[in-house]
Amino acid sequence: MNQATLTPHRLESGRPIRLADLATEGKQFHPDREAAEAEFRSLRDELSDWQERLYAEGRPKLLVVLQAMDAGGKDGTIRNVFKGVNPQGIQVTSFKVPSKEELAHDFLWRIHKAMPGNGMIGVFNRSHYEDVLVVRVHHLVPEAVWRPRYEQINHFEQLLAETGTTILKFYLHISREEQRQRFQARLDDPTKHWKFSFEDLEKRKLWDDYMAAIEEMLNQTTTPWAPWHVIPADQKWYRNLAVTRAIVQSLRDLNPQYPPPEKDLTGLIVE
Ligand code: ADP
Repeated sequence: MNQATLTPHRLESGRPIRLADLATEGKQFHPDREAAEAEFRSLRDELSDWQERLYAEGRPKLLVVLQAMDAGGKDGTIRNVFKGVNPQGIQVTSFKVPSKEELAHDFLWRIHKAMPGNGMIGVFNRSHYEDVLVVRVHHLVPEAVWRPRYEQINHFEQLLAETGTTILKFYLHISREEQRQRFQARLDDPTKHWKFSFEDLEKRKLWDDYMAAIEEMLNQTTTPWAPWHVIPADQKWYRNLAVTRAIVQSLRDLNPQYPPPEKDLTGLIVE
């Protein structure tokens, strides 16, 4: 499969999009759920092999950023896509409301500290992008503070890219109706009550403001060194496949290798 088919949802720098034009339905991109699931499992095995090589080579770093509306599927994506990857080579960070200490620093301070080191895959469940989303929509800081952040983020990510981090950013795109159904499912199932919060309903009322903020985020921070992917995420099976395809494509391009032994090992017998 060639690159174009593995990354059909990658945005291009300098080509602005309208979020409303982008699909939330994955079905139209893959008519056959069973075939998609089979491809997903096979790519997931490939991802696991690449992770071992990345770790063995011990130099490049991969960062996967996940953003979504509430119930958009960040947790499910992490659970499914990275299942089977050696936990030692992966580091998941969930960014919550900043602590007092974090707020006493610039907004990228906590992000920089959580970046993956050599040979590691870092996964961000929410990220520095909250600082131009929730912060903007809920007026937590004035526009004069959040607007320059697009440029600050682009420069920050450029630094990371130039120092060996491959950055892949995913916005999991669900429809308003899909969010309604997922919230309702949480209410109807006592084992999912822990996932429900009244705050989520408050945020849902601001859906249009969030869409405007997300659209601007995508347009302002899609760069050649850190592209966004807008993943149709109403169907979880397609979402899993689309995210895994893009990650595997990047790892194929990166092509990490097992390092050669220090000395020739042929014929060496352990006694
Ligand atoms: P999640 O919804 O990701 O599973 P939580 O229910 O703990 O986890 O929600 C984390 C909350 O932290 C979200 O409401 C998110 O908007 C908020 N948050 C994350 N980063 C920031 C930030 N920089 N400023 C304000 N709120 C933030």
